[in-house]
Amino acid sequence: MSATANSKGVRNIRELSLDELTQYFEVMGEPKFRAKQVWEWLWAKQAHSFSAMTNLSKELRQKLGEHFTLPVLTIDATQQSSDGTVKSRFRTHEGHLCEGVLIPTEERFTACVSSQIGCSLACKFCATGYIDRKRNIDFDEIYDEVVLLNQQSERIYGHKLTNIVFMGMGEPLLNYKNVLRAIERITAPDGLGMSPRRITVSTAGVAKAIRQLGDDKVKFKLALSLHAPNDAKRNEIMNINASNDLQSLVDALNYFYQQTKNEITLEYILFKDFNDSQKDAEELVKLYRRIPADLVNIIEYNPIDLAKFEKPTEEMTDAFMGYLAKNRVNARLRRSRGKDIDAACGQLANKN
Ligand code: SF4
Repeated sequence: MSATANSKGVRNIRELSLDELTQYFEVMGEPKFRAKQVWEWLWAKQAHSFSAMTNLSKELRQKLGEHFTLPVLTIDATQQSSDGTVKSRFRTHEGHLCEGVLIPTEERFTACVSSQIGCSLACKFCATGYIDRKRNIDFDEIYDEVVLLNQQSERIYGHKLTNIVFMGMGEPLLNYKNVLRAIERITAPDGLGMSPRRITVSTAGVAKAIRQLGDDKVKFKLALSLHAPNDAKRNEIMNINASNDLQSLVDALNYFYQQTKNEITLEYILFKDFNDSQKDAEELVKLYRRIPADLVNIIEYNPIDLAKFEKPTEEMTDAFMGYLAKNRVNARLRRSRGKDIDAACGQLANKN
């Protein structure tokens, strides 16, 4: 029985490839083009029930309903920030919750999506890390997150999504197959047809999987959540660093770049009196020189109740940015969005 087959062994129809769907209709004695029609309903037209597939006969829709399930993600609650950011809580067919965020700016409409229900990595500064990982999010559910946020973007802002970032709940590279399969559907011409260059997968640093992305010659961009300039400090805030230290990540990122030439971004949240000093900036510059990264995003920290960290003063932030600029690091300061609704980076915790 497949992972998403129900208790009667009935399969989720979206797990089937187009070939498998074609075979199914052949066995049923139906013409081949039925497979294409259903495929189109499932992916390009995003039908959320068999009854919505109106160019099929009633009998055929009924049969599909007997032979397959079509579990979909639904929006359970939304909150809009004063800055226009919209946070949505999604509900899976069995009642699990995860979150996604729509971030509008003047030139972009970005969807931030989740890849796991909860997260096992327990980074100290992140609200999601305090929720146990329940399960991976299936590829069709990740697809639904993007579809729902795209509909939201069109409805509220009159504009389709322009970018997708895998920076919501969970570690995408610990759900490797589903994330890659979702991206295949999101970028496929018979799916959502988005460019892979507008998709960024952000990882806390799983060296082996970063190498695998290189071997798989993926076309999307990669971001590393660095957040500390050396192993000692990184060990304090990110448990994953114990098994994936900075040297292993530097090697893996160089390998990824050799194989793909895709853009790499480093993400660095500034924490007061932890990683915001001149010495930290010096170490960060040295590390940056060893990684083929195009950009360093310096992110404003959003305090969460569960963690002891604070946001640095404006003076410390300016001094840190100034040092990076003086040393020709391509760095940008990212002010947080959606802070008033707990939708900012590291704040996702199903709290609607
Ligand atoms: S920062 Fe990412 S990897 Fe770390 S606990 Fe939060 S969701 Fe998980």
